[in-house]
Amino acid sequence: MVTGASPDEVKAVVDRAKSLGFTVQLNEGTDKKVIAVLGSNTGQTQTGVFEVLPSVESVTRIMKPYKLASREFKTKDTTVACGGVKIGGNQIIVIAGPCAVETREQMLQIAGQVKASGASIMRGGAFKPRTSPFSFQGLAKTGLELLAEAREQCGLPFATEVVDPHDVALVAETADILQIGSRNMQNYALLTSAGKGNRPIILKRGFACTITEWLTAADYLLAEGNKNVILCERGIRTFEDSVRFSLDIAAIPVLKKASHLPVIVDPSHAAGHYSLVPAISKAAVAAGADGLLIEVHPNPKEALVDGAQSLTPVAFEKLMKELRPIAESVGRTI
Ligand code: PEP
Ligand code: MN
Repeated sequence: MVTGASPDEVKAVVDRAKSLGFTVQLNEGTDKKVIAVLGSNTGQTQTGVFEVLPSVESVTRIMKPYKLASREFKTKDTTVACGGVKIGGNQIIVIAGPCAVETREQMLQIAGQVKASGASIMRGGAFKPRTSPFSFQGLAKTGLELLAEAREQCGLPFATEVVDPHDVALVAETADILQIGSRNMQNYALLTSAGKGNRPIILKRGFACTITEWLTAADYLLAEGNKNVILCERGIRTFEDSVRFSLDIAAIPVLKKASHLPVIVDPSHAAGHYSLVPAISKAAVAAGADGLLIEVHPNPKEALVDGAQSLTPVAFEKLMKELRPIAESVGRTI
């Protein structure tokens, strides 16, 4: 719409779209309102039906498979607020903690340690999507309670994974950020359920998915009305077997161009080994990531899940110090 279009003029476009059987989403963040007209037969509708309406500036077909996640729909960067910090702003946000919540002592201890080193958000899995059904599956509801207790004690908000659409309400009740894992990036029932709420969501990249498929999955969340979506690159499956997954560093600038959503990087699941985590964390910050999701465990040797890739609190503290000048060199704080 042209700058200064009246609410009635906006409503006229919305009503026309609805009368043609489309759904509508508004981007009202700036002086210019953008109305997304969404539906499966948009291709059959002539743009002229909207162009004739008062105060319509232009009608653009978004040719990419993803729409709401695209820069065409929203040119300005999205920022996601969580516990007093903003993901996607100038500050690079570090989310740190163990792969899985194991015990009360473990969680309370690591929460204090990552906070002391400069993490703004903690992580810990209560529901674990494990490759084998015989592996530790997480503490479920008890895990959420321990995360809530750690938050109360140390003051950091927390992110935790939800794997089942039926658990979304339970997890969203307590968690500050929902995480949708790599294995569930295309679990459309889970995406639809998580998208109905307002809790920020970290959408991890499916390890065998293209960036286009990933952004189209993000549209499932956005289409339900949840605008607080954060993308997380965590490595993809390639022929290379010296790392657990190949971190796609180029995904960061590609996403920054294609999408308005914040982009964070998980170096831990890509590396698979703690010794590789510092180097790829630094590369991610240099390449423009808005944040990092790092596994840190008070005693990695005893960890029930992902010990090999977890940093000790000492190594995490060292990494945080080393990241500062790199963040500054790209005009950001950490
Ligand atoms: C995790 O963050 O603990 C996790 C399981 O990650 P991913 O979904 O990327 O494998
Ligand atoms: Mn893990």
